[in-house]
Amino acid sequence: MKLVTTIPAMRAVQRSGSVGLVPTMGALHEGHAALFRAARTDCDLVVASVFVNAPQFGDGADLAAYPRDLERDEAFAAEHGVDVLFAPSAEEMYPPRFATWVDPAGAAIGLEGEHRPGHFRAVATVCVKLFNLVRPDRAYFGRKDAQQVAVVKQAVRDLDLPLEIVVVPTVRDKDGLALSSRNARLSAAERERALAIPRALETRDPDRARAVLAAAGVEPDYVAVADLDGPTLAIAARVGETRLIDNVEL
Ligand code: AMP
Repeated sequence: MKLVTTIPAMRAVQRSGSVGLVPTMGALHEGHAALFRAARTDCDLVVASVFVNAPQFGDGADLAAYPRDLERDEAFAAEHGVDVLFAPSAEEMYPPRFATWVDPAGAAIGLEGEHRPGHFRAVATVCVKLFNLVRPDRAYFGRKDAQQVAVVKQAVRDLDLPLEIVVVPTVRDKDGLALSSRNARLSAAERERALAIPRALETRDPDRARAVLAAAGVEPDYVAVADLDGPTLAIAARVGETRLIDNVEL
């Protein structure tokens, strides 16, 4: 596997056949591995990016606490079939005088868009930059971030970007909790409480879901049915200091 950290080096990567891109923020886990596997099955060259996109974090503490370990991610990506790991610095992606943003409406309005102002503007901007840099035939996104999938698909459609978005089902731990880099921050007691989220989703009903969360003492940012790349029951909730999101397709 080749590690690439600059934009010129990424543009210079030799390519033949189809290219798959898996954008990530690192702290790689089995959820990311499922995306790598899907890309490996479909594409001749698999590129993964590791970039903690600061502008998409409204909360400075969440950004500061975000786990970073490039050496571990390099080993994980290599073991899981990635050919090229693109890990640019913040300055590489947002040099001085950077001033052009992709500002999505539509699918970006409400839910995460309401609770994290500016989040999807930063997500859409970094995705369009990565698509332009890597020029993939397909890019792979997890269903766990269902609104993100809807926003990215909308940007691809609206801006006529020449790639296909492939959606990979949510990978869960044995206890049902959706894998997330943020799970590592949960104490044992918090994790137990967080399990109310997948249990609430299993009801497939917003009122019953709210009742399950309330019984566990979990206060949600929202419990909502929305069209997120298809009809979806979505939950966001803070458990201790950790904000978790999850959803189920209806
Ligand atoms: P992140 O590194 O958290 O930004 O996630 C990078 C990509 O992996 C996104 O497309 C996520 O939706 C996807 N992803 C994260 N966790 C999971 C999971 N548990 N199952 C499936 N995909 C996931």
